[in-house]
Amino acid sequence: MLGAMQDWELRASLLIDHAAREHGSREIVTRWNDGSESRTNWAELRGDALKMVQALKRLGIEKGDRVATLAMNHGPHLVSWYGATGAGAVLHTINPRLFDEQLVYIANHAEDRVLIYDSAFQEIVDRLKPQWTTIEHYICFDNGEFADWIGAEDGEAEWVTGSERDPCMLCYTSGTTGNPKGVLFEHRSNILHTYAAIMPQCADLNSRSCVLPVVPMFHANNWSFPWAAAAVGAKLVYCANNDPANLCDLIEREDINYLAGVPTVWLSLTQHCEAQGMPLPPTITHAVTGGAAMPRSTIEKLMRAGIRIAHAWGMTETSPIATIAFEPHDFDLMTFDEQVTIKARQGKALFGVQLRIVDLGDPSKELPRDGETSGALQVRGPWVLKRYFKGEEDCVDADQWFDTGDVALIHPDGTLQLTDRTKDVIKSGGEWISSVELENAAVAHPAVAEAAAIGIAHPKWDERPLLVVVKKPGMDVSADELRKLLTGKVAKWWLPDAVEFVDEIPHTATGKISKKDLRERFRDYRLDG
Ligand code: ADP
Repeated sequence: MLGAMQDWELRASLLIDHAAREHGSREIVTRWNDGSESRTNWAELRGDALKMVQALKRLGIEKGDRVATLAMNHGPHLVSWYGATGAGAVLHTINPRLFDEQLVYIANHAEDRVLIYDSAFQEIVDRLKPQWTTIEHYICFDNGEFADWIGAEDGEAEWVTGSERDPCMLCYTSGTTGNPKGVLFEHRSNILHTYAAIMPQCADLNSRSCVLPVVPMFHANNWSFPWAAAAVGAKLVYCANNDPANLCDLIEREDINYLAGVPTVWLSLTQHCEAQGMPLPPTITHAVTGGAAMPRSTIEKLMRAGIRIAHAWGMTETSPIATIAFEPHDFDLMTFDEQVTIKARQGKALFGVQLRIVDLGDPSKELPRDGETSGALQVRGPWVLKRYFKGEEDCVDADQWFDTGDVALIHPDGTLQLTDRTKDVIKSGGEWISSVELENAAVAHPAVAEAAAIGIAHPKWDERPLLVVVKKPGMDVSADELRKLLTGKVAKWWLPDAVEFVDEIPHTATGKISKKDLRERFRDYRLDG
């Protein structure tokens, strides 16, 4: 017997219909690279998305076909999120900062039929066109082409209907080993994830939120902002140039109270404000962060500025939010330090997601939630990946547990604490050193702008830690001072064997420290035996 409620498939078009109907005049603002600004709103955006549905139909795009974007954050890009998915197609957001080889691989693997791109990436398009074997149509977002293309339609169209389990978005993970892998989100998984994301206990998004998502739209479902903002009628502000001075100016101008970015974004924003001798922008009340560990010192600065931090953990494979560090019932009774500790950890599972840790060598052995034992982190839930796009087999076990590649411990109250990525932990004498903890301790030094710890081959211990440090301009710190600072904060045998000062640490396309590139750079580095 089935229940007796109405038949509604949970599809992305419900979100934009709702936003246009209930929050139609709420704005979506774009500041372009040249400093010019354009404005639209949820009602107009819906109209444009419907025109795009017609335009795609005219190109012969059918249900399930892939429509790709190679673009940064802006209003027309948002139109394409709803236009492509509303046409029943799958929107494939491509990361323009990937290497040519990967760009060729993923567009061909996805069998993209249309590519809509920013003029800033014209060179990439010209270079790779001959190798992209499936793309039939190229449309430029910002030279008038996209506007003309959809402008030729009247918008008198309907969304393509279908099952809520239909695919909706495709996003490839960076692929630190082997080829990138495609995560194929469903309409349903995105809607369920949206409900979870907007909860006060999660991102706390509502109609008064004015959100600047610094996280790129091509990254991990854009942390759900295109969907979540529509669900509550939040204002969205997009910025092409994420230089901190430009961000600060935009924050003030648009009265932005909500900013989402990986820790390096917050790091550069706080450092910029400190260097200018000004406070963090006073309108900001909410910070969303995740994607990498947020240094404790940055958390402290934001909290002192009265900013509520939603520190999330997740990955593209989990849509991406799986856990969130929210305030427990006795948060107000805690000391400042205790509060910071809560926010520095990765939080608890959202309703819908389950977590467990298992033995790194034997995944059949589940480990206790004792706050001490760390193991391989596994997740499951309706917005967690089951199989990569075109994968031949499921990548979950018989009980649907997905191995995240992260190493973590779980505290008795259920709080998750990431200690490392499986491939980044430093293996010394059969024991494990958390690179993340070394980095967090090092960036607490006032002269350290950024720090990364990697394992260097060692004749006796297998690997020993090397700390790579970028100093703040005009400031100084020695290797000895850093080792002294770390003493007492981490176990003695964790102390880095060497400290190297560099001008710059390599970052991934999403602003995370690229350990892969760093390891490559220090491949021949020798530690004294
Ligand atoms: P990529 O591999 O391209 O960085 P993802 O965004 O999917 O793609 O990365 C997910 C990974 O980022 C997680 O597996 C985890 O290692 C790391 N991560 C995400 N959130 C956090 C967090 N809050 N703290 C520490 N690490 C995090």
